[in-house]
Amino acid sequence: MSNKYTRQARLKLNRPSLRERARPPKQRTSIGHMFTTANYSGVLVMQHCQQCGLVQYPSREICQNCLDGKLIWRETSTTGHILSSIELHHSLWEYFKRRLVDAPWPIATVKLDNGATVFSHLYLASFREKSLENLTKGTDVQVFSHSDSSLNSVLIAVCATCDIAQLKDRTTIAQAMGLTAAAIKPGGI
Ligand SMILES: [Zn+2]
Repeated sequence: MSNKYTRQARLKLNRPSLRERARPPKQRTSIGHMFTTANYSGVLVMQHCQQCGLVQYPSREICQNCLDGKLIWRETSTTGHILSSIELHHSLWEYFKRRLVDAPWPIATVKLDNGATVFSHLYLASFREKSLENLTKGTDVQVFSHSDSSLNSVLIAVCATCDIAQLKDRTTIAQAMGLTAAAIKPGGI
């Protein structure tokens, strides 16, 4: 038996645009969830192969270099440089649709000094250049992990001189980008 209210609730489930709060994508593989769990307690935690020493990203069941299964999660270097960057202008995901109303969403491919290549959100406000056009390939950056409002670890790239040692500093950046639950305004965005 359905009434007006349950019909409205079902409609909201099927129509993300009607939801008060939109969430970032939360689907992850089991290894993806392990990455999130490992990063709850660190600045940037990645898989390290105990056999060949490779730092691996994205996370996998075995080492992509030597196929060994002995992988451990531990803190790694956060420094690297930009390989390429793009701006997201359109998304089918409601969470990003709402953010793209104001400005395009910058994303960067970063080569970390530990050898791994990662895809991360780019916090443009932290750079002197402030715009993607002026941010050249090879620009030094730091990458850290932070929980988004779906409680999954995402990667964020900031300027090389930014202070990211303390959790409160990293949280301030994630909030400024609108990635955390605390940044969601009452009544939705
Ligand atoms: Zn290996």
